[in-house]
Amino acid sequence: MELDTNKKQDIKQGSVVVMGIPFDEYSSFLKGAAQGPARIREVLISDSGNWFTEQMVSLGDEDSFIDIGDLQVYDYFEDIEPAIFDILQKKGRILTLGGDHSVTYPIIKAYSQFYSDLNILQFDAHPDLYHEYAGNPYSHGCPFARIMEKGFIKRLVQVGIRAMTSHQKEQAERFGVEIVEMKDFKPDLDIIFTGPVYISLDLDGLDPAFAPGVSHQEPGGLSVRDILSVIHKLKNPIVGADIVELNPLRDINGITATVAGKFLKEFGGMMLKK
Ligand code: MN
Ligand code: MN
Repeated sequence: MELDTNKKQDIKQGSVVVMGIPFDEYSSFLKGAAQGPARIREVLISDSGNWFTEQMVSLGDEDSFIDIGDLQVYDYFEDIEPAIFDILQKKGRILTLGGDHSVTYPIIKAYSQFYSDLNILQFDAHPDLYHEYAGNPYSHGCPFARIMEKGFIKRLVQVGIRAMTSHQKEQAERFGVEIVEMKDFKPDLDIIFTGPVYISLDLDGLDPAFAPGVSHQEPGGLSVRDILSVIHKLKNPIVGADIVELNPLRDINGITATVAGKFLKEFGGMMLKK
């Protein structure tokens, strides 16, 4: 099974649009996340699996599930937000493959112009709430500080956090971010949202045993099933998602790319539900 690429003209109301953003310039520790989208596609076009999701959506039979390929980012500010804006204007729902987590800020900046009551459900080892990191306010350690201070969304819930700092705890309190720390996480977690939901999955939210291919491995994390259990319970429309921070240079036998591909399918199936 192969994803059709370059079908931008086919974007219509309710389309789920897969787009890679191979950008890792705002990674603070290691580069490599820019190679993520290509690696995830490589895994998906292999014959090892099929295109049914666990909820029995057959993505291969859906005209509304389209891959428009990768966005070439020459400028973080000039390129990402307009590309997202364009797809949202065509009433598509966007499933982005990162890239590092810095891409979520311009994505949500575009979303905020279409949705006034957006919720974000973030899976991550880190809160990414630094006011600035290594002198860069747009670092992958900062996107949710920028999103919250600009009032782009209604509510942010973070799950899997286990690398909190006192500065970020203050930031979370200041912005009213709701945090389910890993030490308090239970797989039966059922989060009730009002209004549309955007899922931001930083693969380092998973335990490195499930997802070693990330720049910042943080032990003691979520399993693949933990995240699936939480998202499968969501009843609200999923209007967008990103899967970020796959670093193929750190991966072992493609296991993390395979996990990312699994989430691409499950998110895509849930987003297609009207
Ligand atoms: Mn992280
Ligand atoms: Mn992150």
